[in-house]
Amino acid sequence: MEKERVLDVQNLHAVFKIQKKEYEVLHDISFSVDRNETVCIVGESGCGKSVTTLCVMGLLPKNGRITKGSIKLDGDEIAGLSEKEIRKYRGSKMGMIFQEPMTALNPLLTIGYQLRENLMLHRGVNKATADKMAVEYLTKVGIANPADRLKQYPFQLSGGLRQRVLIAMVLSAQPDLLIADEPTTALDVTIQKQVLTLLNELKKDMNAGILFITHDLGVVAEIADRVVVFYAGRKVEEGNTLQIFKNPKHPYTIGLMNAVPDVDKDEFVIQPIPGMFPNITEDIPGCRFSPRCPHADECALCRSEAPALKEIEPGHFAACHLIDQEAAS
Ligand code: SF4
Repeated sequence: MEKERVLDVQNLHAVFKIQKKEYEVLHDISFSVDRNETVCIVGESGCGKSVTTLCVMGLLPKNGRITKGSIKLDGDEIAGLSEKEIRKYRGSKMGMIFQEPMTALNPLLTIGYQLRENLMLHRGVNKATADKMAVEYLTKVGIANPADRLKQYPFQLSGGLRQRVLIAMVLSAQPDLLIADEPTTALDVTIQKQVLTLLNELKKDMNAGILFITHDLGVVAEIADRVVVFYAGRKVEEGNTLQIFKNPKHPYTIGLMNAVPDVDKDEFVIQPIPGMFPNITEDIPGCRFSPRCPHADECALCRSEAPALKEIEPGHFAACHLIDQEAAS
């Protein structure tokens, strides 16, 4: 079956202005999401993964701007559209689930009112049909007693239920792209697992692409078809889930893997990545990971030249001088 591209981000650069000076927060970012595919962007806090979603949604803060590159949604260029223009896409063609659902739900309105308004706006149905569909959508996301829940306000629901309501709200608009930014981080482990299972089931059902942002490799293993690893505003590795977990190539990806405990072993040792994540105002010559990389002294170029992304095997890319060195030897 031929893949259908829903989101295509190419050579994206973005800056933030801090005290009259602009700093690059995204550098030459390219990736794509196909229909019925879940792509996870993974990396530490501040690596640019959330900024990327804000660029796609047209929600960059006032001090941020895209300086170069293209973002195509269903083939339409959406990078740099005005607020009025991007509203035609936001909510209908692309929907977003946040870490804290209260960011998106109105605390003063019942769940039923909000879901009905969303259905009337995005699906063009009348009030009676919207009310019926609201019950169906709550059932779809596994909420028991949906008719009673619709009468409640967001504060009357638990965090897990609120996240399910938000997922129902986003899905009810039938988006082509679902963006989920750390949607399970605030939930306890059992509820987190339920929400991930739900998203996996819904992916088949809703015929959309999912862009999932997380810092948690356990979550990536549960949900991703493909993984994009970010470090300090750059893409450092990309591959399918098996390639990234079984054969990580970039020292940063390997460091992330080593920082996760292996519960299958009797004794496990967590090896945190040494050093601090760089500040965006920091100017680091060469590879941005070099101050923390255990191999930075093995190659003369590490501290002087930024490594380019290379394809190691079909669909598996990494940006590291050592890979070039290994290939040449
Ligand atoms: Fe480490 Fe050098 Fe590779 Fe950067 S280019 S990750 S410093 S080995």
